[in-house]
Parts: sequence; structure tokens; C-alpha cells
Amino acid sequence: MKKFLEDFKAFALKGNVMDMAVGVIIGGAFTGIVTSLTENFINPLLTFITGGTGYRLYSWAEIAGYGSAFLSSVVNFIIMAFILFCMVRFINKAMTIGQKEEESAPTTKTCPYCKGEIPIDAVKCMHCTSDVE
Ligand SMILES: [Zn+2]
Repeated sequence: MKKFLEDFKAFALKGNVMDMAVGVIIGGAFTGIVTSLTENFINPLLTFITGGTGYRLYSWAEIAGYGSAFLSSVVNFIIMAFILFCMVRFINKAMTIGQKEEESAPTTKTCPYCKGEIPIDAVKCMHCTSDVE
């Protein structure tokens, strides 16, 4: 049980939970766009093409209505995505506060003969060609 909690803590802190939540929310919002596209664009178009129930032409007002309904769902999606983005940024920032930045492992070392800087795993100095370690 303790191991499970530790695993969960690591999982949550890695931000995977946030990523997943964002994915789910964005997915849901995107479904709204697709639904709107179908209802406000494809369905009227199909009705127009096939004649639908009682063949008639759409008026410009109707077309504008469908267009604005679709547009508003796109705007909704963009606003939602923007708010989510701000939230994720805020949470990520809050999570790094008080968290000391991990010291990155050194990638270079100093040659004991010429004091030149060489890669950490070098066996021969690139400056003075001495064998190191
Ligand atoms: Zn050297």
C-alpha cells in the first residue's frame, strides 16, 4: 500500500494527471466543435443536397444563423483552451515553487596535466593528448 501511494505521488507530481485531465477536457470541448460542425454545416448541406423534407433553398438569414452557431462553438473552444492553458501554467509554476532545481550532472572535467576542459568520459585529453584516468 505504501509503495502504491509512493507510485501515485510520483505519477501525480510528474504532471501526468494534469496532462490527462487537460486531454479529457480538450477532447470534450473538441467533441462540441465536431457536433456543431455536423449540426450547423453538414446536416444543412445534406438537407440542401438531398432535398430533405420538402425541397427548399436556405435563406441567407438561415445560413448566417448556422454559420454563427458554428463560429460561436469554435470561439467557445478557443476560450476554453486558453483558460486551460493559463491554469496549467499556473499549476506548473505553483508546483515548482519551493522545489529546488536539480543540479545537473557535470558533463566535463578538467585535464590534470594541461587544465583544459574535456568531456567527462574522455580517456585522452583533446588538448595535450595525455592519457587521463
Ligand atoms: Zn590535457
